[in-house]
Amino acid sequence: MSADHHHHDHGHDHDHHHDNRYSDMQARVKALETVLTAKGLIDPAAIDVIVETYETKIGPRNGARVVAKAWSDPHFAAWLKEDATAAIASLGYTGRQGEHMRAVFNTPETHNLVVCTLCSCYPWAVLGLPPVWYKAPAYRSRAVIDPRSVLAEFGLTLPEDKKIRVWDSTAELRYLVIPERPDGTDNMSEEELAELVSRDAMIGTAIAGAPA
Ligand code: FE
Repeated sequence: MSADHHHHDHGHDHDHHHDNRYSDMQARVKALETVLTAKGLIDPAAIDVIVETYETKIGPRNGARVVAKAWSDPHFAAWLKEDATAAIASLGYTGRQGEHMRAVFNTPETHNLVVCTLCSCYPWAVLGLPPVWYKAPAYRSRAVIDPRSVLAEFGLTLPEDKKIRVWDSTAELRYLVIPERPDGTDNMSEEELAELVSRDAMIGTAIAGAPA
């Protein structure tokens, strides 16, 4: 567990979803969806497609551009390390749950993994909607206790001597993992590099993809 662990302080939190409140919201959303579907006003399959698109495509593309720029531009990488909130905002990614950002850089020695042990704090501005597993109690508890096994279940087996740092998100501070730049990508443009960066690589449950 990282010495930089931050406590959740819900006393200063105005837009935070507590578990019970979130369940209540989910129930209301479900009820609304049921009524609208029964009236023929919406198609649940179409809604699934929209949610899936925001979870895996539109949202995380912002973060992927941040990573690709950090890989391509040492000055930007230094700024990102120093003041991630400002560096990310300079690309236009700001807003709810993205106000205070910290970028944690993977290195040959250390792999970073992000969790919110208390609820589901997530950097929406750069990653979009959190995946279901990120909000699941099993991930939230086990990522801290046994990160190596959790990563193995995601298909990511790290060398035994590689250190894993776990970062606990809060309402005040959200983390973005900057994966290591893959080998064989020296001649790739930022746009091409961004394609190698998945949502999971920026949470830390994956690494960046290899070039085709
Ligand atoms: Fe949280």
